[in-house]
Amino acid sequence: MARKSGVCAFCGRKASEVRLMIQGIDAEICDSCAEQAHIIVKEQFGDTQKDKFASKGFTLKKPAEIKAFLDQYVIGQDEAKRTLAVAVYNHYKRISQKVEADEVEIEKSNIILVGETGTGKTLLARTIAKMLNVPFAIADATVLTEAGYVGEDVENILVRLLQAADYDVPATEHGIVFIDEIDKIARKSDNPSITRDVSGEGVQQAMLKLLEGSVVNVPPKGGRKHPEQPMVAINTKDILFIAGGAFDGIDRIIAARKRTNVIGYGNGGNEVINKDNMLQYLSPADLKKYGLIPEIVGRLPIITHLNPLDETALKRILTEPKNALVKQFTKLFAMDNINLIIKDEVLDFVVEKAIEFKVGARGLRSIMEAILNDAMFELPSDSTATELVIDREYAEAKLEKSGLKKLHVGD
Ligand code: ADP
Repeated sequence: MARKSGVCAFCGRKASEVRLMIQGIDAEICDSCAEQAHIIVKEQFGDTQKDKFASKGFTLKKPAEIKAFLDQYVIGQDEAKRTLAVAVYNHYKRISQKVEADEVEIEKSNIILVGETGTGKTLLARTIAKMLNVPFAIADATVLTEAGYVGEDVENILVRLLQAADYDVPATEHGIVFIDEIDKIARKSDNPSITRDVSGEGVQQAMLKLLEGSVVNVPPKGGRKHPEQPMVAINTKDILFIAGGAFDGIDRIIAARKRTNVIGYGNGGNEVINKDNMLQYLSPADLKKYGLIPEIVGRLPIITHLNPLDETALKRILTEPKNALVKQFTKLFAMDNINLIIKDEVLDFVVEKAIEFKVGARGLRSIMEAILNDAMFELPSDSTATELVIDREYAEAKLEKSGLKKLHVGD
């Protein structure tokens, strides 16, 4: 039973001499002693943002668990998944590390994903953020070059992350940013095949500041900085940056380097080079040669590639992932009590078309929509409809009718 003494067990002052007396089981503590105690605890253990981060219920999964999670949403790309899983695991381990003065400090490891458009680069980054339950933002590197005042615009990447975090600064500081199309800001001089102005290098310089970890003042509502607008300071030290790009033509750079190496080291061509998939030999040197400045390459130390998706992979994408398109459409129809049956031959047809349109997995959705749109319009009003069977003939006719002949990247 709690006994009330009316005296603070720490300083001995009476209840009448303090603002508040907090009752314990056998003793009391006054408000000022409680405050003192809080300060001591803070000094001892630190009240850093790391703790806030931990207290948000963040549990770090092991690399194998991260990969298993990715497998539910992303088809294939095993190597990229394994590399990403390890990088993300290490990154968040590093964040939760409490660095003592003389301890080894783990350096941040941003990631670069190289692979054709529509092979799953954004999807991988987005899925990781979903798993970790951290704020996630996508920034398009091409937009940054076009706007002129590049230094300010690069900071808008952080504005998007801040908004994704609902203006929670500590959460922002542990988020993930996906920088898309980083290859489009490559320097022209090293890579004459790219028709881009030299401002690419300026954007790379500005981006460097974010990647290396610094405190950046951002206008919370975005746009240009001006003196009256209040700024929010964001430390990018613990933000994980994942850059992605198709790096069109980099296979030729890799091939040229491999050839030189083979000759240079005189191993007589003992190494068997798989010419169909040069990306597997990708190295930082190739990225530099392509036109990324060495400092940027240095700040993206984890390099991995994504393979082009073949027919089998595209077909699996239609049906296997947790939120596969076929599953989504089946559910939409089921909500109107209609049993949707899509024949296997239709999936083959959709894949053929996606390959014809040359947009990787990106075209799959538009093609499926075009095929099913009439049915999605008509059937909800048809009270007798209980089942819809789609065969190849139906699919061909509907796609023809829709006029969908070509898809652009981003459709
Ligand atoms: P990238 O960033 O490489 O250009 P995305 O990740 O944006 O491509 O892919 C576009 C869409 O295609 C994704 O939203 C997803 O629906 C699908 N997709 C692409 N690659 C895969 C994959 N490996 N597994 C499952 N779906 C994929």
